[in-house]
Amino acid sequence: MRLKGRTALVTGGSRGIGRAIALALGEEGADVAVNYVSSEGPARDVVENIKKMGRRAILAQADVGDYPDTFRMAQEVLREFGHLDILVNNAGINSDKSFVKMDHASWRKVLAINLDGVFNCTKVFIDPMLKQNYGRVVNITSVIGQIGNFGQANYAASKAGVAAFTKSLAKELAGKGVTVNAVAPGFIETEMVEGIPEKVRQKLLDQIPLKRFGRAEEVARSVVYICSADGDYITGAELSINGGLLM
Ligand code: NAP
Repeated sequence: MRLKGRTALVTGGSRGIGRAIALALGEEGADVAVNYVSSEGPARDVVENIKKMGRRAILAQADVGDYPDTFRMAQEVLREFGHLDILVNNAGINSDKSFVKMDHASWRKVLAINLDGVFNCTKVFIDPMLKQNYGRVVNITSVIGQIGNFGQANYAASKAGVAAFTKSLAKELAGKGVTVNAVAPGFIETEMVEGIPEKVRQKLLDQIPLKRFGRAEEVARSVVYICSADGDYITGAELSINGGLLM
């Protein structure tokens, strides 16, 4: 167990990649706070699964795009766990439309959750991490932030923003015990990808050298790697888990 005694918060831990990350951290020995915005049932299921592993696990409801709400959640998590070692900024949404059809509300919503959300969550936990001279921040970006995509100007901009934020923060916090990294998944089998029409799915598969979509567990294992002692010398990295889509 590589994370025995550690405490973690996974934003968007109720479903998809975040769920897999929360479970993987629990399997490796961490106590886990599972954030969600509205799916209480699925988040509770993740919490129950982690408890069955013998770990502490709690629900941590908040809209990460809302700073006061995120601050409230952080106080609850810190009260429950006493401290936080690992923060995984995973919560994210997409709202796809070609730029000509994209309205300001859709731009703001995606940026508010995907980019401001990372600022908000990191901001509310960074002081206690610095005080304890230890922290592992992992931000989930996307291959789309690296290559762009038709209909995803808002999403791509948000993820590229998180990647740049990751590197800046890594430089600021190196030497203070806190590493900051990103994991950039390609196309992973979750609800986000299941919504893609079959024709487009086939076109995407043709572009992926490994000829399949990724699994949430494959992303989760890379997060565990970064957060374990094996990843102690890694900071400012953006680790690609994309089947070779971008190389
Ligand atoms: P998903 O299945 O749609 O799950 C999204 C998660 O984010 C849910 O737990 C959801 O909570 C949470 N969430 C949404 N808005 C939130 C908010 N305002 N505050 C707190 N939590 C919020 O997504 P996914 O496919 O697992 O993606 C997870 C992350 O990986 C995202 O950042 C996404 O951009 C990134 N990513 C995904 C892929 C992919 O192929 N799937 C590829 C690259 C990157 P509720 O359940 O309560 O709604």
